Amino acid sequence: RAKENGKSDIQIFNSEMRSVSLQKLQLENDLRRAITNNEFVLHYQPQVEIESGQIVGMEALIRWNHPQKGFIPPGDFIPFAEQSGLIVPISEWVLHEACQQNQAWQDAGLPKVPVSVNLSSRQFLQHNLKAKVDQVLQHTGLAPQFLELEITESMTMDVEHAIASLLELKQLGVQVSIDDFGTGYSSLSYLKRFPVDRLKIDRSFVRDIMEDPSDAAIVATIISMTRHLNLKVIAEGVETEEQLSFLHRNQCHEVQGYWFSPPLTADKMGSMLRRITCSAGRLKEA
Ligand code: C2E
Ligand code: MG
Ligand code: MG
Ligand code: MG
Repeated sequence: RAKENGKSDIQIFNSEMRSVSLQKLQLENDLRRAITNNEFVLHYQPQVEIESGQIVGMEALIRWNHPQKGFIPPGDFIPFAEQSGLIVPISEWVLHEACQQNQAWQDAGLPKVPVSVNLSSRQFLQHNLKAKVDQVLQHTGLAPQFLELEITESMTMDVEHAIASLLELKQLGVQVSIDDFGTGYSSLSYLKRFPVDRLKIDRSFVRDIMEDPSDAAIVATIISMTRHLNLKVIAEGVETEEQLSFLHRNQCHEVQGYWFSPPLTADKMGSMLRRITCSAGRLKEA
């Protein structure tokens, strides 16, 4: 009996394995096709200065416009793309697209607002990252100060490598930020050695600042730490007026989140930039 059970367990295991690996194979084929067929799009989420309401940045966020399944969020395919290595061509497309779009807006006379791009860990490990970024800047004509690269704490585990790579990137004149800050294990003693420009407070802390005193304390502490380290800081995932005023009281000047706007298509982001130009024009006339 035990033997029979054992046997059937193995069969179940095998067929589950087979369906998981089939799914992966399917996903891998789909992703390869997506790359050649250009099925990815970037959406842009505005980053605003609380005090002035001005748009001071925007984050490029990838979506996969799947021919059968519709829009697939990055969380559903980026981790797999990382595992399979397909993240490399995808990331190159993202970087190029974000820079090209930003330069196009600038060429159209819209306000010059920097764009942030999420780096994948594979990209960050590549020895030729600096050359790749430089190439994209040259090719698109975007000035380096309009590009910010986001890394996560998990990419800084190899501290010496991270510092060396960041120094190279900084030589190009681009900005660098640490995304999802507070969720990783980066040691505070290393933070001062990392040549980064700003921290993005992870939205898991922001979500509960009104209900959870520990999260409120963590957020307030990160903000005050950035002030002492001379870093800029932005809070992610700000959804409510209450969260906004908490952040404002605690001297976090910039926010990104549904409170102001969800990620927008490039068209809608363009219209938003155009509206700013118009209202600034009216102000000048008045
Ligand atoms: P992230 O870089 O931390 O991006 C912020 C995520 O929070 C986005 O999810 C955004 O839509 C979401 N978000 C913004 N405001 C709010 C809010 O007020 N409330 C809530 N609940 N969510 C908010 P998204 O676009 O699904 O991206 C998820 C993650 O996927 C990103 O997290 C980033 O780690 C990764 N990702 C996105 N685009 C790229 C890319 O081009 N390359 C790489 N390597 N990773 C990417
Ligand atoms: Mg990000
Ligand atoms: Mg984040
Ligand atoms: Mg995240």
